[in-house]
Amino acid sequence: MYDVCIIGAGVVGCAIARELSRYELRTLLIDRAGDVSQGASKANSGIVHGGYAAPSGTLKAELCAEGNRRFSQLEAELHFGFRRCGSLVLGFAEEERAAVERLYENGIANGSEGLSILEGSEIHRLEPNVSLEARFALRCASVGVASPYELTIALAENAVANGVELRLFSEVLAIEERGGFSIETARGPVEAAFVVNAAGVAADRIAAMVGACNFSISPRKGEYLLFQKGYGSILSHVVFQVPTDRGKGVLVTSTYHGNLLIGPNVEEAASPEDVDTSPEALLSIIETARRSVPGFELSKLLTSFSGVRAVPDRKDFIIEESEIPGFINVAGIESPGLTSAPAIAERVVRILRDAGLSLRARGGFASRRKPIIVPKSLSDEEVSQRVKLDSSPERIVCRCERVSEGEILDCMGRGIPVESVDAVKRRTRAGMGSCQGTFCRPRVTALLARELGIAAEAVRERSDELTKPVRVKRTFYREVAQGAQSGG
Ligand SMILES: Cc1cc2nc3c(=O)[nH]c(=O)nc-3n(C[C@H](O)[C@H](O)[C@H](O)COP(=O)(O)OP(=O)(O)OC[C@H]3O[C@@H](n4cnc5c(N)ncnc54)[C@H](O)[C@@H]3O)c2cc1C
Repeated sequence: MYDVCIIGAGVVGCAIARELSRYELRTLLIDRAGDVSQGASKANSGIVHGGYAAPSGTLKAELCAEGNRRFSQLEAELHFGFRRCGSLVLGFAEEERAAVERLYENGIANGSEGLSILEGSEIHRLEPNVSLEARFALRCASVGVASPYELTIALAENAVANGVELRLFSEVLAIEERGGFSIETARGPVEAAFVVNAAGVAADRIAAMVGACNFSISPRKGEYLLFQKGYGSILSHVVFQVPTDRGKGVLVTSTYHGNLLIGPNVEEAASPEDVDTSPEALLSIIETARRSVPGFELSKLLTSFSGVRAVPDRKDFIIEESEIPGFINVAGIESPGLTSAPAIAERVVRILRDAGLSLRARGGFASRRKPIIVPKSLSDEEVSQRVKLDSSPERIVCRCERVSEGEILDCMGRGIPVESVDAVKRRTRAGMGSCQGTFCRPRVTALLARELGIAAEAVRERSDELTKPVRVKRTFYREVAQGAQSGG
């Protein structure tokens, strides 16, 4: 019997797991996918918002401003990749001035830090590549960029290091309330006294399983274009346009790792799994982004991707104990959910306490987690030498991002199963460089096969698959190959 079962290992579920790991509890974190961060938390803008956009008095406003304030400390503890760079909301026509001033006032009311309004020349002094058509802007110095999946992985690793159990490939299929909760998962039954439903775009379906659903969630897609690493340096701020009813609009920014990122648009998704991108949508994003930053070069384009927002029929985050005592819904966590996650987690712990969960601080909570990616200053010559090394922690496996074998082994030994090429990529950046994995994919696959004791053919490419593949021992393949050669 677990004290708490958290359903969903996105940034919200992982932040809650880490917060609960401060107490003497048996906490279980489960996800249907083969790794953490497989929902919205892996594909978003990665902006740590300032908190000026959400209407005052909403949970979004309160938790965004509070979450933003937690990020410097979180980065110091968990090393996932975060820096404060500030943002600009550009106004192009006098008619937009009132909207920009309203954002400023709203931000002050919400407790956002570092707000000011800039006029044309000040904008262009700060950002020479921003359109000369921009006449004024709201600046928010406290906005930052974070690596969203690295944050989620770091929270999960730290929670696991502090005693939380993580079960992957454990899709929740049914939940029954009988003075506690019996949860049927794809990997067997689970019993828990309290359940936290943090299942993102599936949160309404999970809540409905136990009769605790008084909301609905719609999937809404956002597409992006990602440019080469280093090209993000054409800007230092995150550059937005004036928001509309449908959200914050298309932004142009550097990612934490220095890629230029433009997007997202807003479109109804065909299903929660619909992460296709379309040429029409991408062209429209390019056109809109050029209004803010006219000169970016498409020759630097690397790839496109999309993420799916969990849009609730209520206009705010839903974070409450449901009508079923002990069943907590943490649903409709659309943007700024990444920013708000640390504050959401603290709120959920208070809700659990008020619902009767006994909280006794655990001695020896370790708040720190070592980074995986270690900055290296290797010349091209040294990289070429190290690529040729036989198995060694120094061997370079990914040329573009200079990822070593040692870093890959390190990411595999941190308490979370790392069993796919994608899982290695999100932890080390192997495959994220300009060749997009052409060089390193076979090497990463071979390393995974060696470490997992399986055939290269059995190594999974992606982590979001729902079933664990049947593992076939390398010896079996060898026998089959030998049998085939000898006509057997
Ligand atoms: C396009 C886009 C841009 C965004 N930009 C920003 C931004 O710049 N800044 C910001 O603060 N926020 C942003 N957000 C919002 C942010 O990404 C989300 O609020 C956050 O990632 C939500 O996290 P989550 O843990 O609630 O959901 P998710 O990350 O979706 O996690 C839910 C998890 O539940 C699991 N699950 C689902 N069903 C089941 C089941 N039956 N059994 C077990 N597990 C299940 C899924 O596999 C998934 O891992 C953006 C979102 C999108 C889509």
